Amino acid sequence: MLKSVYEQNFLQKMPDGTVKQVNPFTGTQVWTVPGRGKRPTVNKKADEEKKFVSEGVENFCAFCPSNYLKTPPEKSRLVKNADGTFSILENLKASQLFETTAEFRRIPNLFEIISYEYWEKNYAYVISDKANAHREAYIAEPEGKEHVLDIVHAKLKMSGLSREEIDSISSGRKLKMANSFFAGGHELIVGKRHFIEGATSESEKASSGSMTPEMHYQYINFTIQALKDIYLTNRYVRYVTVFQNWLNQAGASFDHLHKQLVAIDGISASNAAEFELARKNPNVYNDFAVNYAGYQNLVFAENDYAVAFADFGHRYPTLAIYSKAERNQPWNQKPEQVRGMSDLVHACHAAMGSEIPCNEEWYYRPPEVDVAVPWHILIKWRISNPAGFEAVTKIFVNTIDPWTLRDRIVGRLFELRKEEKIAKGIKIAAECDCTPNCLMYNPQIQPTAANPYAMRGRGTTMDM
Ligand SMILES: [Zn+2]
Repeated sequence: MLKSVYEQNFLQKMPDGTVKQVNPFTGTQVWTVPGRGKRPTVNKKADEEKKFVSEGVENFCAFCPSNYLKTPPEKSRLVKNADGTFSILENLKASQLFETTAEFRRIPNLFEIISYEYWEKNYAYVISDKANAHREAYIAEPEGKEHVLDIVHAKLKMSGLSREEIDSISSGRKLKMANSFFAGGHELIVGKRHFIEGATSESEKASSGSMTPEMHYQYINFTIQALKDIYLTNRYVRYVTVFQNWLNQAGASFDHLHKQLVAIDGISASNAAEFELARKNPNVYNDFAVNYAGYQNLVFAENDYAVAFADFGHRYPTLAIYSKAERNQPWNQKPEQVRGMSDLVHACHAAMGSEIPCNEEWYYRPPEVDVAVPWHILIKWRISNPAGFEAVTKIFVNTIDPWTLRDRIVGRLFELRKEEKIAKGIKIAAECDCTPNCLMYNPQIQPTAANPYAMRGRGTTMDM
């Protein structure tokens, strides 16, 4: 599809400085107008600078480690062993929750977007033997039963039921409602810290970028294990979306770091349209994403396993990170491939800082889809609110053009590398290889004599 690359023009700079962008995958039109990019990206900073000290076991929200019993029963947790290795503990009972400190917890979302009842009523889905065994063991303990009933009670109360109405529901019925905690398909992966260690102001929240690269890899890997498990547990699930809403302006209920996984029973129209594009042009993610970004000098970071660039055609300023791995699904990738991807995602968050509200969105090929799609992650900065102009025209006014976004990130990446706060092995800006067709997700793009552009090499030597 080389021809199409040269025919496409997704980015157009006007003489006055306006940048017109078109998203190659969705057709979204975005304009960056000179001047508006200078608007501040961090809101609310002044009133968040209240002085305080975060010490001991944190207790700022329901996700904090003091409050293991304020969320529905945990499915699993990642703990750090004395020797520095990590272990996953599954299906703990209420009495065991405080025996260890979780680095990350996998818990059900109290208010599911798609509920357990949805699967039960629409698909005759029944709770798995393993989940049922966990449920039985959990409520067999008096403290476990009390915990489950407390959470069901809280949920009913938040749903608007009166005390009398809640009391009129039998314990048996309430315990049945708790099936959604043990077998539902909307889950959260919650981090340990609310604020960074030793924080003295409320703006020092523990974010993806404030972790070490190793801990961020553990976070990503633990999320991937949950993702795989949801597919294995419920065969009616056709797509599990993975995302992270960071800060209230980006849709988060708590300013405590967490990712969400939501199982759905179909592929959405917009996802399906993109898969069809990839069917027509199996190399589209090289052609229109990474190769194009390279020619536009938008690639800002790269390692052996992934590549990151300032993306275009999104309603918000967006950083894109693409896995170079052959395997499309994160759970099928080798540990070093996942680590490489995690390192670039971490570096992006670290370079942004923790004060920009953002959505981290994961894209990959769901198991039932037969079109090759590379695992990629978009980080969208939620720093503006589309309003009337956007509603009428469907042209979105983005405040930062991709080159300005690149420059903001690159400057910080060099500093972070010097401070040793991002992973080793990351090439920055002009150091990046930008080898054409570096994404190997598509088995049709093999390096052959007929297609010398399908480079497999890394480094700067193009072995043609
Ligand atoms: Zn918290």
